[in-house]
This record gives sequence, C-alpha cells and structure tokens, in this order.
Amino acid sequence: MTLSYVNPTPDSPWGTYLSQVDRVIPYLGPLASWAESLKRPKRALIVDVPIELDNGTVAHFEGYRVQHSLSRGPGKGGVRYHPDVTLEEVMALSAWMSIKNAAVNLPYGGAKGGIRVDPKKLSTKELERLTRRYTSEIGIIIGPQQDIPAPDVNTNAQVMAWMMDTYSMNTGATATGVVTGKPIHLGGSLGRVKATGRGVFVTGREAARRINLELNGAKVAVQGFGNVGSSAAELFGQAGAKIVAAQDHTGTIYNSKGFDLSQLIPHVRDTGGVAGFKGAEPMDNEAFWDVPCDILIPAALEGQLNAERASRTRARLVLEGANGPTLPVADDILAERGILVVPDVICNAGGVTVSYFEWVQDFSSFFWTEDEINLRLDKIMVGALKKIWDTADRHRITLRTATFAVACERILMARQERGLYP
Ligand code: NAD
Repeated sequence: MTLSYVNPTPDSPWGTYLSQVDRVIPYLGPLASWAESLKRPKRALIVDVPIELDNGTVAHFEGYRVQHSLSRGPGKGGVRYHPDVTLEEVMALSAWMSIKNAAVNLPYGGAKGGIRVDPKKLSTKELERLTRRYTSEIGIIIGPQQDIPAPDVNTNAQVMAWMMDTYSMNTGATATGVVTGKPIHLGGSLGRVKATGRGVFVTGREAARRINLELNGAKVAVQGFGNVGSSAAELFGQAGAKIVAAQDHTGTIYNSKGFDLSQLIPHVRDTGGVAGFKGAEPMDNEAFWDVPCDILIPAALEGQLNAERASRTRARLVLEGANGPTLPVADDILAERGILVVPDVICNAGGVTVSYFEWVQDFSSFFWTEDEINLRLDKIMVGALKKIWDTADRHRITLRTATFAVACERILMARQERGLYP
C-alpha cells in the first residue's frame, strides 16, 4: 500500500529509496515478510516555525523531523536548512540513516530533520531564533535517548549549540547528549567536523585498493565543496591524489594539474564558494561530468548523477559523499560500464560514526584523543565495508544492494525480535 501523504516519482528521493528497498528484498530470506515496515516512516512530524525577523515582521517556515525506524535504538540523523527541503526528501534522508546506522552496526534507528528555508537570507540572530523555535517544536520527540540530531547541509556546530541549549532550557538540565556535532567545549568530539570526509576517504582508499587504482597521482572531481567535499578532498590530496575539478552552488572550476588546496580551502571559507579561485579555470557546470578523472565524489545534494551523466562520466570509482546522489537508473548504467560505486549508506557513514563516539563520550563524560577517534573510525569503516564486500561477492550484487542487505537484515531482525505492540 502506498502512503497517502507523499507522491514519489521514480527519480525523487523517496522513490529512489523505495526502489533500493525493492532490489534488496530477494536477499532477505524469511525476513522479507517484514519489509513493508522499511517502506513506512515510524513517525513524521511537521511543524510551523514562526520567527520575528530583524525588521519586526513575522515569517513562517515549514519544519520537519522524521523518525524512519527506532527498532535498533534512538533516532539519529542530521538537520538540513535548504529552500527545497520537503517532507518527502526528509523521509528519504531519515530512511537512509536507518540503513547507514545499521550498516556500520551503530545502536541507532534512523531519523532526519529539516527546515524549508534559505539560511543565507537570514541574519545570525534570525537563524538563532529559527533554530530555537524549531528545536522547541520538535522537542516533543527528540532527546538523548529518543532521537539525536546532528549537522547536515547548511547547519553546523553553532546551530547544534543553540539546539542543545534550547532543549536543555526547556527540560531544566544541561543535556549535551541531545545533539552531536557540537563545539568541542560543549561536549563535542575531536575529529567530528571532518569525520564524514574521512569516512569517504577510508572507504575510497579500500575500494581503490581492490580495483588496483593507485591513489598517488589519481585525478579526483568533487561536486559540493562544503564540509564533506572539502574534507574528503584534503585527505585525498594528502594521499597524493590531484583534485582537478570542483563544483558548488557558486560554479565549477578545473585545473588538470590539480588545485593547491592550501589556497582553495581558505578561498571557499572567505568567499563562500569555489567561483573566482585564481588557481583554476572556470568551467561550464554541465562539463563537470565530462572531466577526465579516476574518482568522482558527489558531495552536494540528491539526484545529481542521472542516466545521462552516468553514461558520460570517465571515473572508475564513484564515492557517494552526499546522500542519495545517484538515481537507480544511473546506478544500473554505472554497473554496466564497470564503474564501481561506494554507496552513500556506507561511504558517508564516518560522520554518524563519530557522532556516536561523541554521544558515548558525553554519557561517560570522558573524552578521547583525536588519534583514538580517527583510529576507531578507520577500524569500524574498514570492518563494515569488508562485511558488505563479502555479501556483494557472495550474491554477485552491487555494493549498494549488499549494504542494504546487511543493514536491512539487522533492522528487520530487531523488528521481528521486538514484535508488534500491543
Ligand atoms: P555543506 O552545506 O557543508 O555543503 C554543501 C555543498 O553543496 C556546498 O559546497 C554547496 O555549495 C554545494 N551545493 C549546494 N547546491 C549545489 C548545486 N546545486 N550544485 C552543486 N553544488 C551544490 O553540506 P555537507 O554537510 O557537506 O553535506 C553535503 C552532502 O553530504 C549532503 O548530501 C549531506 O546530506 C551529506 N552528508 C553530510 C554529513 C555531515 O556530517 N555533514 C554526513 C553524511 C552525509
């Protein structure tokens, strides 16, 4: 039965997720009888977020928090501020969090939140009021043991500090464990800011080894040069790879010899985007998908790799830093062309893994060194990827379907063992 409150198309985020679930069902054995529960979010909250603007008028924004599954533990997933956010998108992002958390075996369900807003049009004070009102509205379903938000597109450590403070004020006790991705002195974890990019690098390094792709000298193209894209680029650069193309909402740049990242990263920080960087040539946005490269890292938004772009890319390896960047039809084309895809649900799991470390550190009030965090992250990611790869080899399926198989088995096993209440 389809849900009455969304109308997904095959290419929309929820439509993409549903098709990914359909592909894994044949590999779930008897647990397939529970698969319908993967196609329905457990809970979806829509909230009105009214705030007073600096000019004294009141503006209303639409906010969401979706808990896709809580079978394996509290909800966990980021909060996105973007003008195109919809309930359907947040549903898909929350479902991908369920898969991701189970794929790396974190004791979490999956959740996600968002506000339909262009944060670049708000002042810092307006952004703070928006965050605090949204946190109060979703306060009825979040909490350190219920659902733990984190940063996503256009949200950061400062936004998490406001969320933590608001929740703490409303409940009467400082609750550091209610969000992750906080500033370090508020219970944040060392290594969290770059953890997602680090996970992209670790899974990319392992995948490159398996297909005999030498990282030293490899050419890399990165779409989205924000938190995830720039951190991954930095680590690939340190491993000797050349970042030859980058695209963000301001434009696309290219340099066949590779960018000087020690100049590009400050340029993006100071100007807000890659456009205008002097150490590269500007390029037409669509030409980004044709650049000669070995590794393609989509690290912006959903649905970027469509059928046409998948037929054009010259990469041997696609590392999904973003959530949902590849449409199912493009997945098939990449597989036919022998291009390996490390899917989002394992590739970008480094962020939530270090978020889990942060949550554990907050509960024990005992904080680890950055080396400890990076080592544990590396170990968890490598172990999770190995299990996925073994599953892919055993069934002769893609890494995406194999990740879904490993994760869905864990989720549905928990679902079955808990049973239905009442
Ligand atoms: P961010 O806000 O730091 O960066 C987003 C980047 O995407 C920016 O460079 C922006 O310019 C670019 N972008 C936006 N619209 C674009 C467009 N139309 N074309 C090209 N580029 C565009 O966000 P982030 O945290 O780096 O998240 C990026 C992706 O990674 C998202 O899909 C997010 O869900 C996913 N992700 C993030 C984390 C995390 O820890 N931050 C964890 C897992 C997955």
